[in-house]
Amino acid sequence: MTAADNPNLVCLGPAALVSLRESLERTLGDQAAPLMQEVGYASGPEMFQSFKSWLNARAGIADPGELDASFLGPMVSDFFEEKGWGAVAIEKLGDSALAIDATQWAEAGSETTAAVPSCHLTTGLLAAFLTELAGDDVAVMQVECLTCGDDRCRFLAGSPAALQRVFDAMMQGRPYSELLTTSQ
Ligand SMILES: [Zn+2]
Repeated sequence: MTAADNPNLVCLGPAALVSLRESLERTLGDQAAPLMQEVGYASGPEMFQSFKSWLNARAGIADPGELDASFLGPMVSDFFEEKGWGAVAIEKLGDSALAIDATQWAEAGSETTAAVPSCHLTTGLLAAFLTELAGDDVAVMQVECLTCGDDRCRFLAGSPAALQRVFDAMMQGRPYSELLTTSQ
């Protein structure tokens, strides 16, 4: 195994994430979100390699694809919690999407008055992490956020086409849940 297969992750406290977002939003306004998503996306493959190493050490499973689907969610949750991000609950929404929920999340900090979901770095990170896991393009969109005063951060994950349908519907004022029924 090379260093690239098993990267050492750099540890930063949650305050760094909050400060990064606040300073970028202060200077760049709306442009902060896509930039932070890009940074998160760039970190996804290393996080996934770290997850693979962690899973092998924890459960003796070298390939996450070998993990039974019912254990994958709890393992991903334990990994993110141990790395300091927070625990997640993963559930299927209809045929075409996953919901990834966190009631405590490092990037959210303590803000509760944001106008829009603000865990931008996580959104990019999860997209890259899940793309590595699935072996196919996965898009992620945040639809609820602790920073907005919601009870949880909720990220939707699915194919780019499925997520585009959800995004278009939300732009028309329809709830995302409408688009994620089993008929889709
Ligand atoms: Zn959030």
